[in-house]
Amino acid sequence: APVLERSWARKSGIGWVGKNANLITRQSGSFYFLAEIICDLELMPDHATTDHCGTCRKCIDACPTNAIVSEKLVDGSKCISYATIELKDAIPDYFKDKMDDWMFGCDVCQDVCPWNRFSAPHQQGKFKPNEALKNFKKGEWRELTQELFSEIFRKSPVKRTKFTGLKRNIEFLEASSERD
Ligand code: SF4
Ligand code: SF4
Repeated sequence: APVLERSWARKSGIGWVGKNANLITRQSGSFYFLAEIICDLELMPDHATTDHCGTCRKCIDACPTNAIVSEKLVDGSKCISYATIELKDAIPDYFKDKMDDWMFGCDVCQDVCPWNRFSAPHQQGKFKPNEALKNFKKGEWRELTQELFSEIFRKSPVKRTKFTGLKRNIEFLEASSERD
C-alpha cells in the first residue's frame, strides 16, 4: 500500500509543508530523502513543528508553468515534473516553451526556496552522475536507444519515466524548438 510519508513526516515534526508542497526543514531545506521504518514498537510520538514560510512566495512566483495554484497545492496537470516523469500520454502543448530544455523533472520551486541555502552537498558516491552523461550532446540524446538507456540509467530514478517516456520528452523539446 502507498505510504503517505510527507504527511507522517509533518506530523512527526521533521518539517512543515511549504507553499511549494515539499516538506521543508530548517536544517536542510527540502533537499533530502524521507524514509520510514514500519514496525510494531510502542513509541512516544513527537509533535508537528511550526510553519516558517512566512510571507515568502518565491516558489509560487518562480514556477514556470503556474502549477502552484494555491499555497501548498500543486496542480499536477501543470507541473513539469509530473509531465516528464509520471504522465503516460503525450505532453500537452501547455508546456511548450516553459521547460527550458529539461527532459526529466524540474526543481525550480526548490531551487528558489531560501531554506535550501542550508542544504549541504551529499557525500554519497552512488548519487554522483554517470560520467558519460555529462558529455552527451543534443544529437546523442536524439539518437538514444533502449540499450543505451538501460545501461546509463541502470541505477537511476530516470528509469521511472522509462525509455519511451524520456524519448517522448526529448522529442517534445525538439518539436518545440523547431516551431520557434
Ligand atoms: S516542479 Fe517545477 S513545474 Fe512543478 S510546481 Fe515546482 S516549479 Fe512548478
Ligand atoms: S520558497 Fe518561500 S514560500 Fe516557497 S516553500 Fe520556500 S519558504 Fe515557503
